[in-house]
Amino acid sequence: MKALVHTAPFTFELRDVPVPQPREDEVLIRVHAVGICGSDVHGYTGTTGRRIPPIIMGHEASGIVESLGRTVTNVKPGDRVTFDSTVYCNVCPACRQGRVNLCQSRKIIGVSTPIFHADGAMAEYVVVPSWIIHRLPDAVSFEEAAMIEPAAVGMHAARITPLDVNDVVVVIGAGIIGLLTMQGARVKGAGKIVVVDVKEDRLAFAKKLGADVTINSTAGDVAAQMEKAIGRPDADAVLEAVGLPSTVTLGIRLTKLGGNLTLIGNVTPEIQVNLQDIVSHELTIRGSCAIAGEYPACLDLIAQGRLQVKPFISRILPLSEGPACFDALHHGEPGLMKILLRP
Ligand SMILES: [Zn+2]
Ligand SMILES: [Zn+2]
Repeated sequence: MKALVHTAPFTFELRDVPVPQPREDEVLIRVHAVGICGSDVHGYTGTTGRRIPPIIMGHEASGIVESLGRTVTNVKPGDRVTFDSTVYCNVCPACRQGRVNLCQSRKIIGVSTPIFHADGAMAEYVVVPSWIIHRLPDAVSFEEAAMIEPAAVGMHAARITPLDVNDVVVVIGAGIIGLLTMQGARVKGAGKIVVVDVKEDRLAFAKKLGADVTINSTAGDVAAQMEKAIGRPDADAVLEAVGLPSTVTLGIRLTKLGGNLTLIGNVTPEIQVNLQDIVSHELTIRGSCAIAGEYPACLDLIAQGRLQVKPFISRILPLSEGPACFDALHHGEPGLMKILLRP
């Protein structure tokens, strides 16, 4: 089969490799669409240590079941499917509580570290364990299904954040994850949703996807802009989807007394925060990591038209165009959001 193999920093080769064979509890999937994730783009620079070459990347994908291991019963050949990016063990204490995103022996599809290697879906076929597979509703296309993984990341962040009906919610960062999280908050019953970013084109896009108010943080004090727009300078809950010192600090500032701040972005490993603001405002700050059971909800919501993922798809290209796509994403081509490859 053809596979896009990451062979060295900034380097891919389109190679002929053997079709992987499923073990007894695994499934072979013919890939129809696979998304390039921001973490893939970081990984291909060689700086994260999570795409150690040679590796076939790709953890946001969809396709058709080609063949099954002997003990698989939840899908059959010909089924249209997608799969979770996390391979969890099902037996550790975290897994048994349903917190599979915290599984201590988890692997991520399309990721290689010093501890594990799992080839992904930037190839004609991929093998994944049966228990991470989800069948697609008829109304969900392969392209939409390749967006389920980031959609579920956003939905998870919204789901673990306490939100009451009509709450004011601020989303910091109008990237893909930020705007999927925004839609998750909407599904949960948020009232006014305010999206903050530094780029006007992203803010205009946020408006199209349902933001009530957009604020450019370079245009002056954000709390003052909120006060002007919605009559209060803070939010019941803030969802932070960037992870820079300045955006986390802003998140702390915009969270109401006793409110909730959920941190999703983590591009900066360590930051300094004002401890006295957190303590004296009695803020609840939580991290949100990956996905823990949000796939079925996201698939249903997309099928019902209540979760929009298509607008994020900028381009759909053949696998051979992969290297150029990584280059464009790495250089931050303006307006570019999700690129899907079609192996
Ligand atoms: Zn991803
Ligand atoms: Zn586990």
